[in-house]
Amino acid sequence: MSGTTTFTMIKPDAVKANNIGPILKMINEAGFRIKAMKYTQLTKEKAGGFYAVHAERPFYGELVDFMSSGPIVAAILEKENAVEDFRKLIGATNPAEAAEGTIRKAYATSIGENAVHGSDSDENAEIEGSYFFGMTERF
Ligand code: GDP
Repeated sequence: MSGTTTFTMIKPDAVKANNIGPILKMINEAGFRIKAMKYTQLTKEKAGGFYAVHAERPFYGELVDFMSSGPIVAAILEKENAVEDFRKLIGATNPAEAAEGTIRKAYATSIGENAVHGSDSDENAEIEGSYFFGMTERF
């Protein structure tokens, strides 16, 4: 059975564009509850560590620069079938391919600056959540 927890970030492009509120509204309206939330800015080291799995990809440097370029909102979300349902809600990585009604269709501007992150497995949701929140910060 799939888990009830996923992890998200509202990325620097969406924070800069003042879209935290509308994105959280879409998340709530899709049935997710916010279990922990933090407004913060990643250092290059922390962004690099978060995306270490992409270290060999040609866009890694650009990704690390972008993700540390301004504040983000990190959050742990709860819902049945959280990981899969949240991936559906955010839409394809490239906003040109994202379905109508998805967060990336509404707010992403490019394949790199794509407004939100969503964990791709239960295991990664746990690892990524732990990257930002200790057990005492989760409710
Ligand atoms: P996701 O799971 O949909 O976020 O996509 P991936 O795991 O494939 O990539 C992680 C993140 O790297 C994406 O959300 C983008 O921010 C960034 N990214 C992916 N592909 C590209 C690319 O071709 N160029 C740039 N600049 N960034 C990319």
